[in-house]
Amino acid sequence: MKYELPKLEYGYDSLEPYIDAKTMEIHHTKHHQGYIDKLDAVLEKYPTIADKRLGDLIKELPTLAIDETDKTVLKNNGGGHLNHSLFWQIMSPQKNIDTTLAEEITKTFNSTDEFKKLFSDTTTKHFGSGWAWLVRDEGGALKVYSLPNQDSPLALGHTPIFGLDIWEHAYYLKYQNRRAEYVDNWWNVLKLL
Ligand code: MN
Repeated sequence: MKYELPKLEYGYDSLEPYIDAKTMEIHHTKHHQGYIDKLDAVLEKYPTIADKRLGDLIKELPTLAIDETDKTVLKNNGGGHLNHSLFWQIMSPQKNIDTTLAEEITKTFNSTDEFKKLFSDTTTKHFGSGWAWLVRDEGGALKVYSLPNQDSPLALGHTPIFGLDIWEHAYYLKYQNRRAEYVDNWWNVLKLL
């Protein structure tokens, strides 16, 4: 098995009451592990590419000489592993504000509040499963958008700064269908802003 489930730097109950312990545990040990298992399984079929960096595989996906069905499996589960690995890192029970990023956000989006509103609106307008992203584009500019499924901004040549998982598995136990309420609460556990 090539990829391993990353350890969290905090307990499953550490993000309470904003994200409940049961959701965190299932999300980490079942959903994230599931992506890793399927990622490992598909890479086992292609030893020549298995040692490449996962981010590079996602970027180079259209040109990879592998079966089209496996390409989709790699996109979904490789993206799933990368996205979740970042997600655990950008959350914390303690804030550790990135002042440089905060200043850049203010410069780009007028204010932190306007940025948060734009980002939150992006999550509520997104239909179905996916992620909302703050990224740096190929020219270095900050951008906000959502992508479906486990699609990674890396595939667009963008560098993800943080993303919010808006799959129902990320919030359904506590918030049921109330995605906007989940997003409002999530700002409390986003470490860097
Ligand atoms: Mn998820």
